[in-house]
Amino acid sequence: MSASPLQVLRETFGFSAFRGEQETIIEHILSGEDALVLMPTGGGKSLCYQIPGMIRPGTGIVISPLIALMQDQVEGLRESGVRADFLNSSLAPFEARAVEDRLLAGDLDLLYVAPERALTDGFRRLLGRIQPALFAIDEAHCVSQWGHDFRPVYLQLADLTEGFANTPLIALTATADNATLQDIVEKLHLQKARRFVASFDRPNIHYRVELKDAAFQQLLEFIQTKHKGDAGIVYCLSRRKTEDVAARLVKADIQALPYHAGLDQEVRAEHQRRFVREEGIVIVATVAFGMGIDKPDVRFVAHLDLPKSIEAYYQETGRAGRDGLPSNAYMLYSLADVVALRQMLEQSAPPPGAINTTHTSNSGAGDPGLYDDDVLAAAEHQGLSPEAMNHQIVVRRRLDSMLGYAESVRCRRQVLLEFFGEELPEACGNCDICNGSVETFDGTVLAQKALSCVYRTGQRFGAGYLIDVLLGRENERIEKFGHKELSTYGIGTELNEREWKSVFRQLVAAGLLDVELDARAGFRLSERSRPVLKGEATVMFRRDPERKRSRARKDSSSSSRSGNQAIEFPDEDSAVLFEKLRALRLELAREREIAPYMIFHDSTLRDMVYLKPAAFDDLALVSGVGQKKRDLYGAQFLQAIQAHLRESD
Ligand code: ADP
Ligand code: ZN
Repeated sequence: MSASPLQVLRETFGFSAFRGEQETIIEHILSGEDALVLMPTGGGKSLCYQIPGMIRPGTGIVISPLIALMQDQVEGLRESGVRADFLNSSLAPFEARAVEDRLLAGDLDLLYVAPERALTDGFRRLLGRIQPALFAIDEAHCVSQWGHDFRPVYLQLADLTEGFANTPLIALTATADNATLQDIVEKLHLQKARRFVASFDRPNIHYRVELKDAAFQQLLEFIQTKHKGDAGIVYCLSRRKTEDVAARLVKADIQALPYHAGLDQEVRAEHQRRFVREEGIVIVATVAFGMGIDKPDVRFVAHLDLPKSIEAYYQETGRAGRDGLPSNAYMLYSLADVVALRQMLEQSAPPPGAINTTHTSNSGAGDPGLYDDDVLAAAEHQGLSPEAMNHQIVVRRRLDSMLGYAESVRCRRQVLLEFFGEELPEACGNCDICNGSVETFDGTVLAQKALSCVYRTGQRFGAGYLIDVLLGRENERIEKFGHKELSTYGIGTELNEREWKSVFRQLVAAGLLDVELDARAGFRLSERSRPVLKGEATVMFRRDPERKRSRARKDSSSSSRSGNQAIEFPDEDSAVLFEKLRALRLELAREREIAPYMIFHDSTLRDMVYLKPAAFDDLALVSGVGQKKRDLYGAQFLQAIQAHLRESD
């Protein structure tokens, strides 16, 4: 065998050390065994199959579902001097033929193949004529119908690898829930494969959740103060909203592009291409955007609407900061969102065959047994089928755990990791709760007033009306229903309207109020309301922060920052140099028609700024500079650094 894994890591990829279990996984594959690898997005899965693919004799066959991204992946590898190629439907027949020729000639270390392509007779014949070094199945959760990215074609992949008992098979995914894992093991015949489960913590991501007040203004302020010039993703629930928000961002001088399934295929491809190839593009998208986007320097992910589940939230936020540099996950939500989403989810028909409750069993929200009965009773009441009822339980649990997260008074990271079955013994120090300390208070009496108002008005009104009653307001509806006579009329004057809204929101989030499924979205008491009303249970609330009225404040107090504001530098001069190197990188990327990150990651540029290499050999010390890139770009970057040093003298 030629090079060792560490040599390849250093010489080809320019990294000094393996991360986590990478090396163990690589050794395992090199010894010819199968593996199932679970790592969060950005954890470094690719090297786990790329390096063995390069070291083992023959060609590593990589099955990847994302045709649009294969080219990027392969170009990135080639930039590092790896002999890689891809086969998918985007190639003209003569191009595909050329790739096949290289494969047959033994000129490829890695071949990326779309699953549809891999399953054709033609490709199987091809496989019979070469030596596969390994099979890697990327995004392996696509084999599972419980996941959100089910691809039926993945189910046939076991047929493909069956005939190669001595070739190692490695399946990789960032989706950790049990039902999905079981499916992967079964459908891909990985019963004997060793499992490698990495921590799902992403320490470089800062989590922050804020109440929606003036959503767009909040987003704008967030981008302007923290992420000017940075690439980011903003998620919204509706297609129209993505277009609307993108247009308003553009007006505010931020390069934003919409992305959703309703846009023309070409427009989508172009927007995705620009996001990857240019710097500082903000994509405003529905969930249709993001899977497999390898862009390492996405500096923020913002949610303008509540995601449907914690899994979805974690996958989406995980797209920030793959390069390990500081990044932000920012979410806005409101009571109206909760109600709307709950109705939307509960009314949506269950996807055929996709009914199962096991994979949400680790929901953090309350007592599931009690809850099931509660939902079942409500569903039965509406004459729903057992499938529809089951579906309701699943979506409710998911949404509830999402809400529990949003309303948490504990360290966000602890809540998230707990959801994935991991324990973080100490609060993280890198989330809004840890940093800003959310104030909590005993809200039992307030809860009792609110719940009893719901009860006395007949369990059919929403927050707006109930608050009018609590505040003792006079209006036609109150007159009409005769609610001035109620014992709860005017008993809530200690809070203002906004504060009461917060109370109702937190009651819904805590499962102390249910939302009616009809258009009026009235509140009903739940099983859990009773002990509170009877004074047998206390309720803790978090105090909502004061509404911020200030315009986007320029954060001038902190240390000097580049346009890329997540990365901090010790002084202004370093920030200036970083910008110069970034500009050089962009210029080179344009010339070569590749993405800037394929030349060097931000983290590599940052290292250059700190180390200020003076000679060619010094470049070897910079993380992310392998041999080929040093030869290709080293001289130009050295020159830029030296020129900068002369200027600033
Ligand atoms: P995943 O596929 O798990 O989402 P990637 O394989 O894309 O993650 O890796 C995420 C980022 O981490 C990439 O930018 C990659 O270059 C970088 N990376 C991976 N392994 C290492 C390592 N050992 N040292 C430094 N950077 C690494
Ligand atoms: Zn924390």
